[in-house]
Amino acid sequence: MSDKEFDVLIVGAGPAGAACAIVLAQTGLSVAILDKAAFPRDKTCGDALSIDVINQLSLLSPVLASSFAEFTRKTSSYGIRVYSPDRAHIDISIDMEGKCGHICKRLDFDNLLVQHLKQLSNIHLFENCAVKKIDQQPHFVALGTEQGIFRGQILVGADGAYSVVSKHLGTIKTERKHYSAGLRVYYEGVSFLNTSHFIELHFLQELLPGYLWIFPLPNNKANVGLGMLSSIVSKKKINLKETLQKILSTDSLLKERFKNARPLENVKGYGLPLGSKKRVISGTRILLTGDAASLIDPLTGEGIGNAIRSGRIAGDHIKNCFSKCDFSATFNIAYDQEIYRRMGGELRLSTRLQHLCKHPKLMNFVVKKANQRAEVKQLLVEGLTKADKKVSLIRPGFYYRLLFK
Ligand SMILES: Cc1cc2nc3c(=O)[nH]c(=O)nc-3n(C[C@H](O)[C@H](O)[C@H](O)COP(=O)(O)OP(=O)(O)OC[C@H]3O[C@@H](n4cnc5c(N)ncnc54)[C@H](O)[C@@H]3O)c2cc1C
Repeated sequence: MSDKEFDVLIVGAGPAGAACAIVLAQTGLSVAILDKAAFPRDKTCGDALSIDVINQLSLLSPVLASSFAEFTRKTSSYGIRVYSPDRAHIDISIDMEGKCGHICKRLDFDNLLVQHLKQLSNIHLFENCAVKKIDQQPHFVALGTEQGIFRGQILVGADGAYSVVSKHLGTIKTERKHYSAGLRVYYEGVSFLNTSHFIELHFLQELLPGYLWIFPLPNNKANVGLGMLSSIVSKKKINLKETLQKILSTDSLLKERFKNARPLENVKGYGLPLGSKKRVISGTRILLTGDAASLIDPLTGEGIGNAIRSGRIAGDHIKNCFSKCDFSATFNIAYDQEIYRRMGGELRLSTRLQHLCKHPKLMNFVVKKANQRAEVKQLLVEGLTKADKKVSLIRPGFYYRLLFK
C-alpha cells in the first residue's frame, strides 16, 4: 500500500472534525478525514441540539443548516422542565426569535454532516479507518492505519473523548473532577411526555451536580440517561447502571411513567471530558478540537455546539498556518487563545454554576422562589437561556433578591 499525501489530516468525522473539514473545503487544500466507523454510526449521547448548535450550523454552512431545517428525523423542543431535588419543577419555555432546540439521534445528525462532507471535492473521507499510530517528524505528521500511511502538514484531533491524538500530544491528563461519566438508553412508551416536547432534567440528590434526563424523540420514543461527575462516582463507588435502573423503578415521579415503558437497547456508557479546566490544546503540527480538547459544558454536559465551534476555529487557524508556512507550537498558541477567548467565559460560568448545583437545598429554594414569583422566574429563565445573562446566576445579588424581596 503506497503512502497517501494530503495537506491536512483530521482524525474523527463527528461534529468537530466535520466542521473543520467544511471550513477547509473553501481553501483548495487537500484534506483527509479518517474515521474508525462507517456512517451512519451511533454515538452515545443525549441527542439534544441546543439553539447554539443550530446557530453554529448556520455559520458553518447555510446549505447544511437548511438541510437540517428540512430534516424530518428530529423532534423540535420548545422548553426545559427542570426538577429540583425535592421533586418540585419549573417549566422554562424557549422560543427565541422563532428558534428552538431539537432532539435528533446522533446516528442521523452526524450522518447528515458526513453526507454533506462527501459532496466537497477536496475533502476525502476514509471510513473504517482507525488511526493506530502517530509519527511526528520535523516536516510532516504520519498516521498509521490498516488502509496505509497518511502524511500531512498538520493534524487535527477530532476523535472524541478517548482521543488518540490527545494522548499523543500528552498535554491533557484525565482528572476525575473535570470528567463525567454518562449513560444512555433509548426507550419506547414513557408516559406523560410534554406535548411541547420539553426536555426534562431531573436534578436528583444522589446525582448532584449531575442529573437524569428524558428527551423526547419521534414515534413515542425517548432518550433517557444520566451524567455524573467521575470524582463522585469513584468516591462513593457508585454503579451507574444499577443507579439508573433503581431510580426509574423506585422514584416517586418516574416509576409510574416507566411502568409500561420498554428499553430498546442495552444501557450504553461513554465519557464526557469537561471544559472546567483550561488546557493546552495544540502543539507543533497538532490542534485538538471538540471532546478531544475537553470542551464540554460542565453544567449541562452539552458538547456538540463547542465541537462545531472549535472545528470552525481550527479550520480558520489552519488557513493561517498555510498562508504563513508556520506549523510550530509557538504559532499554534494563537489557536488555544482564540478557543478560550470565544468559549472560556461561558465554560468558567458553567463551572461556577456546576459547583452551586452541588447544594440540594439551594436548588430547592431557587425553584420554589421562581415558581412563586414571576420576576424571579424571568431572571432564572434568562440566566439559563441567554449566554450573556448567565452571569447573573452566580452573582450574590440574584440570591439576595430571592431572600429579601
Ligand atoms: C451520555 C452522553 C450524553 C451527552 N448528551 C449530549 C447532548 O444531549 N447534547 C450535547 O450537545 N452534547 C452531549 N454530549 C456530548 C457530545 O456527545 C460530545 O461533546 C460530542 O459528540 C463531541 O463531538 P466530537 O466531534 O468532538 O467527538 P465525537 O462525536 O465523539 O466524534 C469523534 C469521532 O472520532 C472517531 N474516532 C475515535 N477514535 C478514532 C481513531 N482512533 N481513529 C479514527 N477515528 C476515530 C469516532 O468514530 C467518532 O466518529 C453527551 C455525551 C455523553 C457521553
